[in-house]
Amino acid sequence: MTEPLTHILVLVEDGAVAFCHYENPSFHASAKPRWMAEKRLRGIVRHAESQSVAVTFVLGNTKPPARIERLMQRVPHAKIVPLALGDVYPDAILVLDSEDGDAFAQLSPDSRRNVILRLARRDVAKGADLCASLAGRYGRLSLHLRGIEYFAPSDLAVYREELARLGSMLGKLYSGGDRFEINVLTDRMMLREMRNCDAGVKHVTVSPNGECYICPAFVHDGEPIGRFDGAAGLAFKRIAGLDLSHGPLCTRCDAFHCKRCVYLSRKLTEEYNVPSEQQCAIAHIEREASRLLLKDLGKVEPFRRMPRIAELNYQDPIELINGPPLEPAAP
Ligand code: SF4
Repeated sequence: MTEPLTHILVLVEDGAVAFCHYENPSFHASAKPRWMAEKRLRGIVRHAESQSVAVTFVLGNTKPPARIERLMQRVPHAKIVPLALGDVYPDAILVLDSEDGDAFAQLSPDSRRNVILRLARRDVAKGADLCASLAGRYGRLSLHLRGIEYFAPSDLAVYREELARLGSMLGKLYSGGDRFEINVLTDRMMLREMRNCDAGVKHVTVSPNGECYICPAFVHDGEPIGRFDGAAGLAFKRIAGLDLSHGPLCTRCDAFHCKRCVYLSRKLTEEYNVPSEQQCAIAHIEREASRLLLKDLGKVEPFRRMPRIAELNYQDPIELINGPPLEPAAP
């Protein structure tokens, strides 16, 4: 059965900030933003209202003109904004890139705010310090790695060490009574089933020119799946195999916090529902770091009441299907 859409992501301009594992080459462009046409935006707002679908507007570095602002205000929505607009929209989800780390100290703290930190591969060794500089100042911090497609075993080893360091810092803060979430360490503690990105299943993305995509990553690296047309509304083709039930590995896996990023899967394995080795390894490093942190927080509330996370004897769920990797042959 096809799941109904719960929300639509609207890229209000062509330089809309990238907020997870992809890049938007137009984000840093110096050219004037190309805004979504008012007529189209008005149509999307009406469509969302009539279909009871939530809307998230994704903005770039420039504050939208008043006419666009007025249209956005017509519907309850969330906004995702880059550092440049962080103070303009204090209620918006703020996206920070690890390259902007020097500016983090100047950011105003807000315990109600959700912040996304996109950590570049070359900055993984700074991951714990960057997270620690934001942790406790916001209600929730979501860490998203960039360049996962180029991750080598050495990058994974550094990421494992950084999460261990971060877990130890968090353990002290939690023991002292602080409460905030960091997706890669606390989500798995609270989940009892998969909670993935669900791009193309529960949400789709409309680009400024009205094309519809599985998610924003496919706008620059993929094909449209449909269009938003003022008269016909949102018309798109469902891509078979995107949902969890079609994932032969994911249905056996309990790294419940994993994004199951279908963009990376498609890019690295050419299948939407078959994750790459890097994605599985990263999700299991995070799962193990969450397990160890939860164990260390044994007597601290509310962690004391959370079911322990089982220790695994494998690092990649492919072993559940293929068995453990072969030992190298003796010389
Ligand atoms: S599939 Fe989801 S997690 Fe992956 S790039 Fe798209 S929005 Fe981000």
